[in-house]
Order: sequence, then C-alpha cells, then structure tokens
Amino acid sequence: FTGSLDITRRDEIGQLAQSFQRMTEKLSENDRMRKEFISDVSHDFQSPLLNIKGYANLLMDSGLPEQERQNYAKVIQSETERLSLLTKQLLLLTSLDQLESPLKPIKFRLDEQLKEVIRKQRWLLEEKEMSLVMELDEVAVTGDPAFLEKVWENLLSNALKYTEVGGEIDIRLTEGKDEVKVAIQDNGAGIAEQHLSRLFDRFYRVDHSRTQQVEGTGLGLSIVHQVVKLHGGLVQIDSKEGVGTTFTIILPKL
Ligand code: ADP
Repeated sequence: FTGSLDITRRDEIGQLAQSFQRMTEKLSENDRMRKEFISDVSHDFQSPLLNIKGYANLLMDSGLPEQERQNYAKVIQSETERLSLLTKQLLLLTSLDQLESPLKPIKFRLDEQLKEVIRKQRWLLEEKEMSLVMELDEVAVTGDPAFLEKVWENLLSNALKYTEVGGEIDIRLTEGKDEVKVAIQDNGAGIAEQHLSRLFDRFYRVDHSRTQQVEGTGLGLSIVHQVVKLHGGLVQIDSKEGVGTTFTIILPKL
C-alpha cells in the first residue's frame, strides 16, 4: 500500500490509474483500522486478565486476613464482569458489521420501550439521587426493538455515569410527520468540542472519565451510532463541558 502512482495521463487510462490509487488508499486505511482495532481489543482484554491473575495468586496465601481476601475476590469479580461486558459488546458490534443486516424490524410502541428501559435503571437513578423528567408522545415506530433497546440503555447509563450525584436527566420523545425524536439530556460533565468527532470510534474514551475512574469500555456510543445508522436514522450531540450533554436520536417512522 505504500507505493504511489505517478499519474500524468489525462485519458481513460489515467482515470483508471487514479481509481486504483484511491482504492489502494482506502484499502490501506482499512488495514490500519483493523490493526488498531486488534491492538485495542488485545489491550482491553489483557489488563483485566492480568489483574485477575495477580489477585488470584494473592488469594492463594493461606494466612491472608479475611478482609483482604474479600477485597481481592471483589476485584476478580468486577474484572470478570468487565470482560463479560466487553465480549457482549464486541459480539453485538460484529453482528452489526455483517453485510446482511441483522435487524428484524417490527412495529412497536417506542414510548413503552423507553419507559421499560427507565424502569430497569430506576434503582441506579435512586442510588445517585438523580431526578428524572420525562415527556413521551405515544408513538409507534418500525425497527428492531432488541437493538434499539441497547441504544436507550447505553445513552441513559452514560447520562447517569457522567453526571454528579443529585443531577437531572430529561428524556423526551416527540413525534414529527415522518420521523420521531428521542432526546436524552443530562446536566453532567459535558464533552469538550475536540472529542466530539471521535466519540463514535470504537474504544474511544474521553480523559475526564479516566481521571474520575468511571467504568467503561468506550464501545457504547459506537453501538448506538451503528444501530441508529442501520435504522436509517441520525445521532446528534449537543454538549458543553461542565454544563451537560444532549444526545438526540432521529429515527424515520416508516
Ligand atoms: P464508555 O464505556 O466510556 O462510557 P461510550 O462509547 O459510551 O464509552 O462513551 C464514550 C465517551 O464519551 C465516554 O468515555 C465519555 O467520556 C463520553 N460521554 C458519553 N456520554 C456522555 C455524557 N452523557 N456526558 C459526558 N460524557 C459522555
């Protein structure tokens, strides 16, 4: 992929040569992304595995005080959960990458699905003493409910993760003529502008979440983006650091 063609001809042969050149560049970019992806995956699996190995070794010490034993077991448990989540998310992304779309669209009530997702995460909302405002039009869409559920789960859990205790989340579903809009707004950490263009990249995480030690894999928003794209929809992000973030999903009603 490294050689570049010296193209001076302006006829059909020249055009053909230019097409070849563009194809080489595209293939080279794909190759680079594939290598980067494999290296990210290996890294993200390696670190929890190393932790599990290390703490399992420590647990073998028979004279270990009970409290420490429990702490080490907890680390092993949470690292195992992390590996399990990573595997699930990667499998989901792989299924979305297939040439043949995995979606099985049906007509269903989106407001009811959103209420159900909120109900499942209510304990988290209560634990963080967050208040929730929701205003949902009664509307049906045609889409794959299992995949769309992942979209709302990811967006709501992000709004919860990146907002301080006592924050506020606002969820709105509005029906337009040919489309529906779901807006999930929080008054949390916000995202600085320079990160916005890379948020949908696999494994991309913003530094503020690292420093605050918020758990995450960096795969959630790539799943959101991919599922919405397959539905012929759009994801809009409106965010200001220190003020809050709104994710708006626009889906065709069909
Ligand atoms: P993660 O597993 O890290 O949450 P995501 O792909 O879901 O991965 O999100 C990517 C990054 O985008 C996160 O690391 C976080 O920094 C930022 N982000 C996502 N949602 C929000 C939000 N509601 N408020 C602030 N930052 C967010």
